[in-house]
Amino acid sequence: MKVYSSAECDINLLVKTLRTREGTARPDVAGTVADIINTVREKGDKALFEFTERFDGVSVKSLEVGREQIKKAFESLEPELAAAIEKACENITAFHQKQRENSWFESFDNGIFVGQKITPLERVGVYVPGGTAPLPSSVLMNVIPAKVAGVSEVIMCTPPGRNGMPSPVILACAYLTGVDRVFSVGGAQAVAAMAYGTETIPRVDKITGPGNIYVATAKKMVYGVCDIDMIAGPSEILVIADEYANPAYVAADLLSQAEHDVLASAIFITNSENLIRNVMTEMDRQLRKLSRKEIITKSTENYGAAVLVESIEEAVKLSNLIAPEHLELMVKDPFSLLGSIKNAGAIFLGEYAPEPLGDYMAGPNHILPTNGTARFSSPLSVNDFVKKSSVISYSEKALKSIYKDIIRFAETEGLDAHANSVRIRFEGENK
Ligand code: NAD
Repeated sequence: MKVYSSAECDINLLVKTLRTREGTARPDVAGTVADIINTVREKGDKALFEFTERFDGVSVKSLEVGREQIKKAFESLEPELAAAIEKACENITAFHQKQRENSWFESFDNGIFVGQKITPLERVGVYVPGGTAPLPSSVLMNVIPAKVAGVSEVIMCTPPGRNGMPSPVILACAYLTGVDRVFSVGGAQAVAAMAYGTETIPRVDKITGPGNIYVATAKKMVYGVCDIDMIAGPSEILVIADEYANPAYVAADLLSQAEHDVLASAIFITNSENLIRNVMTEMDRQLRKLSRKEIITKSTENYGAAVLVESIEEAVKLSNLIAPEHLELMVKDPFSLLGSIKNAGAIFLGEYAPEPLGDYMAGPNHILPTNGTARFSSPLSVNDFVKKSSVISYSEKALKSIYKDIIRFAETEGLDAHANSVRIRFEGENK
């Protein structure tokens, strides 16, 4: 892990390094993904079988997982894990129900009626990562908000394991959350299939869910053919800590995100030189016992950073510039900083709110904007699964009271037919 100072050149270098994690910034990834998308468009299912063999190292017999297999996976779930998943479902459902927005309509005495009608999306495709580690929690985080929103059909794509089938716990979560169809295909090819449709996989209105650099880049490339939620790429954590922070907790939380992906980023900003030393020692000690130490070593070498700043205010300023996916505030009074945090996907306050609490059980969504996109993007929510239509109705009297203003606007814009559409109702056609 590199140590940076708060000098401007150091900060610029850090931010520049972090941004290179974006797929479209890497021509090799962008080229590969564009080829995959074009091949899936041309060859459909045949391309999916071929890419699965090439990238996942298995040859699958069928792309779709049967209903019986999905049910069986649920029934064979170990009872304690089933109970934990059910508890998580309850918390996630309760949190997301609060996000529901209703249609609204307003009518006035003079015959004016306006409003906003909310309609759930028809068919949504969720991507559940399964490459380096199957993420059943991502099933819950994708599907529960879609169901709360009232989406009619939710399909799911997730990569096959060595036996050609998705992980049983992913299938069990799909059963529990009511996913309609599950397909055993991952990566950019799964995104392309859901965006354009193949013989087996139906095209969807929107693709949601996190994934590695290939998945995130593919989602960006198909945006416009269908909608996407956000760019939820390789994970990130940024911890702001002062001298009161427990170095063992800071180290453990940094490692917890660094283990996701060699492109994951774990950053730690503090005003205490002592803490930097202690956190580094703790990270080395804890790393030795972790099973994914190779991934962690690579990600912390490439995208890990400890930054020494003059003050916690400066730490907040830098964090806002980086706009991390997960931000932990490990300072004496974390609530006092909340108002000054402008850019972060999820904010964890205090030493008993470690990031994995948000990954599984707390209720908020763990599908979060990465790579600086928290500047303008939000966590996945019920709002991602609905669309809004404006509603307008005017009486004759109400329209008459403003029709001349409309004609003025239309003529200023040179749009005769617009003017005529209003004039014809009160004065006859345009002369
Ligand atoms: P994944 O399912 O995203 O990717 C696996 C697929 O990548 C494979 O099926 C394969 O098709 C494709 N692939 C692998 N190597 C390839 C290559 N060389 N060329 C083309 N395609 C290739 O699973 P993963 O790799 O474990 O990644 C999961 C990612 O999701 C991690 O980066 C993790 O940090 C991220 N994540 C993000 C969030 C968030 O909210 N931002 C949440 C959870 C997980």
